[in-house]
Amino acid sequence: MDFNTLLLRLGLDPDDFINKESVPVKTEEGFLYEAEQRTDIRKCPYCLSEDCRIQDRRYSEINCSENDHIRDILRLKKVRFLCRKCGRTFTPPLNGIRRGAAISEQTRNMIVKDFAKQMTFSEIAGRYGISSARVIQIFDEVIGFVPRKKMPFALCIDEIRFREKEGQNYCCVLYDFNGRNIVDIIRNRQMAYLDEYFPTIPEAERRNVKYFISDMYDGYRTVRKRYFPSALHIVDLFHVVSQMTRAVSRIRTSAMKKMEENSLEYRFMKRYWRFFLCRKEDIPEKTYESKKTGLSYSLEDLVFRCVLKDQDLLLAYNALQDLYHYNQQFFTFGEAHIFINKFADRLTVSGNALLEEVGATYRKWAVEIANGLARSQSGKHYTNGIAESINNHLKTIIKAAYGYHNFERFRKRAMMIITYKKELR
Ligand SMILES: [Zn+2]
Repeated sequence: MDFNTLLLRLGLDPDDFINKESVPVKTEEGFLYEAEQRTDIRKCPYCLSEDCRIQDRRYSEINCSENDHIRDILRLKKVRFLCRKCGRTFTPPLNGIRRGAAISEQTRNMIVKDFAKQMTFSEIAGRYGISSARVIQIFDEVIGFVPRKKMPFALCIDEIRFREKEGQNYCCVLYDFNGRNIVDIIRNRQMAYLDEYFPTIPEAERRNVKYFISDMYDGYRTVRKRYFPSALHIVDLFHVVSQMTRAVSRIRTSAMKKMEENSLEYRFMKRYWRFFLCRKEDIPEKTYESKKTGLSYSLEDLVFRCVLKDQDLLLAYNALQDLYHYNQQFFTFGEAHIFINKFADRLTVSGNALLEEVGATYRKWAVEIANGLARSQSGKHYTNGIAESINNHLKTIIKAAYGYHNFERFRKRAMMIITYKKELR
């Protein structure tokens, strides 16, 4: 490849260099190229005099890598001039290389593009042969501010656990239900933080939010009333159901404690716990073979057999199944409200403390739950399903240890990867 073409490929301006043939040197990790800054254009940037002489020459190495795991290093011979008129020294700038930088602009831009990809900082570092610390430094320099998105028509609010240096907390994620992306991430879901955040959003923009979808965290009720008075508050079914599945799961555990450890029921309940939490019809049509007796049973039959062994488990299991099946029906708000209150009553008189607690929560949130169940309220079914899927994505981002000890960095990176990805391409 001819020298000028090579410089262009590396994102540099051939006009800045003396055009002479240079043979790339193969190194262990890639190639080393040499280039020398031209010396015939001399103009002092301070006094504009052209009466300058060469003071000295210096070498520097610039990382110009553009491929995975091939290190392109440019060894630059730079020139420093002394202005005879004003007595100051200067090095003419080079296009594509920032003053003092060890990485070319082109490589730096490629690194910045990678910030929107599902790559850890250390993976990016490995790609260009630089340190993770340097990559994080570029991130902090370049990605100064990632703005939130506009408040959407249907706003989902949910939390995700985030570990900071000082321990862990729940940060609060705002989702656009229809746009399927993140509107913003708030450092902490505690009221003090939410009260600081929401007033910064213009009231007119908040008024555009027509549906406010959340779980049954008390703070969200306050947020809805204070900042989104014109939005319908919906507690999504996912969280309604998960309260019940959590209770069933704990009741199953205590039922097991009362059983013989090597009984068929005990072993089945321990291994196939998830069949006690799913819809009846989702239990696979398979058989379970008892190692002790050699007899085989259908999974569904065994679930019922276990459930019948314990009065509390029977109550809890049936209630969960009823909840699953009621939500498939259509409701007006009035019907849904009656349903959830009756359901809460049923749990309240169950005699089981866990179920009573769930019943009390449902009663407390009956209006918001009914809003979610009643299709007439919203015309369509709003559930936090999208929040759940983006939440899983966020958890992957956190788990992959992208180098966040710092909430702001995490927020920016997560929004780049999930929300701004398309725009950055
Ligand atoms: Zn000068």
